[in-house]
Formats: sequence, structure tokens, C-alpha cells
Amino acid sequence: MSWDEGMDRNQRRLAKKQAPKAVAGGIDPSALNEFIVAELARQIHGHLGRAKQSFSVDETLEYLFSKIDLTVKGMADIPIACGRGCSHCCNIWVSATAPEVLFLAKRLSSRAGARVREAHEITKSFSHEQRPYNPHPCPLLEADKCSVYQDRPLFCRLASSADAEICRRSYTNLTDENIPTPMMYIVGRDAYSTALSVALKGAGLSHVCYELNSALQLALNTPDAERAWLSGGTSLRQHSLKRTPSPSKNRPATPCFMRWSSNSG
Ligand code: SF4
Repeated sequence: MSWDEGMDRNQRRLAKKQAPKAVAGGIDPSALNEFIVAELARQIHGHLGRAKQSFSVDETLEYLFSKIDLTVKGMADIPIACGRGCSHCCNIWVSATAPEVLFLAKRLSSRAGARVREAHEITKSFSHEQRPYNPHPCPLLEADKCSVYQDRPLFCRLASSADAEICRRSYTNLTDENIPTPMMYIVGRDAYSTALSVALKGAGLSHVCYELNSALQLALNTPDAERAWLSGGTSLRQHSLKRTPSPSKNRPATPCFMRWSSNSG
């Protein structure tokens, strides 16, 4: 990654000029700089402005997810163990921002909604710290496949592991092993989540991450949740909603999945 400290004035000017093109093609984590993250945030912010007018997060999320998918496609040469039917990481605390939850909630069938309710009843008593030791399948998992694959949250899209057996042991047998996550996936995930967070803050909207089951349950049970949230309402800020704690110096700088590591790729 090349951040601006190593750039002279001309290089900075060039990097700034090239940032829109880098964002349009889906960012390349191996060639990331602060201008690209800033441009990405600027683009998302523009979409959020339109979302506030139309009372729909759809365009913003479709834009964000299309860019993430391009980034993942560009990392196809990085070997990962993840594949269709491998779902070990879908058993732990999953986090998403409010627009991702609202986007997903609109697309759930009543059957999936009922499964969210059942899962929330089981997972609601576990804190972020307790949840890794109390795995429970994501209610959107069907026969070990994500039933909302096209609409899954940012952190699900950029989850990866170099070793499925370590995932199986760690996520379901609770062996406390670090998941060998390719570094470029971590860099990409942090770039997209930082840009989304900055854009949400800039648009005057909540940028915190929520635990998926509790947030989906609330969104499904709140009439006009999307309109209320985009109008600055408090529908997703109720006290009962479980937030993913902010990173601290004692916790890895990742707000969503637990136990990442960066020792491969
Ligand atoms: S939303 Fe899909 S990918 Fe994410 S945890 Fe649930 S089943 Fe897994």
C-alpha cells in the first residue's frame, strides 16, 4: 500500500487525478492510497445524498456492492479456501451498518424473516465477547449456502480464509485459532468499510455496525424503517439493538467478524 507520506508533490497530484478511475474499476488493495479511499467515500456520499431524497438505500448499496465485487474479482489469483457450501464463518457475530440491514430486510421472504426471529431469540443474550464461544448459524444460511448472496453485507463479501479446516475448528469447535486471512482482503475490507463510514458520517447518518440478527429483527418489525432512518429518525438506534464495539487498542482493528489474522497472502 502506498500512502501519501512517500509521495512527492507531483506524485500526490497524479494519485489524486487517477483516484476516480481506480474507484470506478473497483479498488485494487495492492495499489491503495488515501486519495482512492477519499474518492470512494465521496462517491458513496453522493449516492447517500440521493438516497435521502428518494428514501431508498438501494442505489447506494448496489453501487457499493458492485465495486466490492469488482475488487474481489481482481483478487482471483490470491488462493483462498472459501467456496460455495463452505459456511463456517457464518456461525459467529455478523455485523452490518444500518443501510446494509435496511437493504437486506426488504429482500427477505416471510420464511427468512421467521428464521431471523428464531435466531435472534437464541443469540440475543450473547455479547460480542461471548458470541464466538456460542456459535449459531446465520438465519440466512440455507443448506450451507448464503440465501442472500447478491445482497449480503460488506463484511460477508470480503470475508476470506486460506484454510477451511482452521475455520471449521475455530468457528465451530472453538479452538481459538487465528483465521489465516489474506492481507489484501483485509486491506480491501478496511478501505471499503472506512469509506462507507466516512460517507455515512458526512451525510449525517449513523455509521456504527450492528449485530445482524438484532438489527434485521428491528428493521423487519419497524414500519417504514428505511424512510425513518434516512430522515434522521432513530429506528435503528433503539437501546435494545446490539452494536459491534468500536475497535480499541486491545482489540484487532476490525469491527465485524471476530478473530481475524493477517499472516498470509
Ligand atoms: S449473510 Fe450470508 S454470508 Fe453473511 S453470515 Fe449470513 S449466510 Fe453467511
